[in-house]
Amino acid sequence: MKKISVVIPCYNEEKNINNLYLELDEVSKEMKKVTFEIIFVDDGSYDDSLKIIKKLAKKDKRVRFISFSRNFGKEAGMYAGLKYSTGDYVTIMDCDLQDPPELINDMYISLENSECDAVALYSPIHKDYGLFRNFFTKCFYRLYELVTSSKYVPGERDCRLMKRRMVNAILELHETNRYTKGIFSYVGFNVYWMKYDIPNRYDGRSKFSLFKLFKYAINGIVAFSTTPLVISAFIGLIFCFISFIAILFIIFKTLILGDPTSGWPSLACIIIFMGGIQLFFLGIFGLYLSKMYSEIKRRPMYIINETEKDL
Ligand code: UDP
Ligand code: MG
Repeated sequence: MKKISVVIPCYNEEKNINNLYLELDEVSKEMKKVTFEIIFVDDGSYDDSLKIIKKLAKKDKRVRFISFSRNFGKEAGMYAGLKYSTGDYVTIMDCDLQDPPELINDMYISLENSECDAVALYSPIHKDYGLFRNFFTKCFYRLYELVTSSKYVPGERDCRLMKRRMVNAILELHETNRYTKGIFSYVGFNVYWMKYDIPNRYDGRSKFSLFKLFKYAINGIVAFSTTPLVISAFIGLIFCFISFIAILFIIFKTLILGDPTSGWPSLACIIIFMGGIQLFFLGIFGLYLSKMYSEIKRRPMYIINETEKDL
């Protein structure tokens, strides 16, 4: 019998865990041809999430868990869950029921009846986000596609049912600064896209503040593209060219008209402008350097505190 592993990263989701479990249990009863393994990855929650997960693990042997020693972020949670999974098929699922468990059956049927290696969910409009965040997300993914030349499906979720070989390929990428959507696209394989209407969060609020999202966006671009470096070199070249022309112009004007250049305000503006541009690009170099620095240190992506084996 084939096994499906459901990987669920959770961070302070005490009000959602039981409901998600109940829905997954329902789905598992309907899907008689497969067995289930439910892996909760507790990402350093400080509410009762871990307690609830432990209770479920004691009651139901299909429930397994990893608890981190602190909050390491959803990306680390997904990697840890995928690594811990043993199923022939693996799906990642948010804990807030925004990836409805009943879709596992539809994804499984699509996967079985096609040559695909994964069935991924996408929902073009995210009602939970509000106008500003939807706009920001759209702009980011446009920019991401442009600078990384990789394909992005508008509204794509991390939730997807994958065959083991795709999961193994993802696990081969050990980078600490992870951007899993980019990794999904990097490893390739045949993906079938399944559209659905994303429901609102069951309980609580999104764990991603605008600042966290901004960091996530920068990380995504730096992890999968060096185009910003090329752009900065290119702009540097253009400015060199402009300044060369300007110098020729001033020399020529002084020789012909004998007119020393007047007007320090314009000069001050140019210096400030150039200084700003230099600092901006220095910042971009710094970003790449800092990512390299953190990769070189080879610190673990996460630290495990407990698993169901410790119960
Ligand atoms: N999550 C996590 N660690 C974090 C932040 C979030 O494991 O540091 C989990 C969270 O519990 C949820 C999933 O990642 O199961 C998605 O988070 P959220 O619903 O807040 O994101 P959104 O749907 O707003 O993008
Ligand atoms: Mg959510």
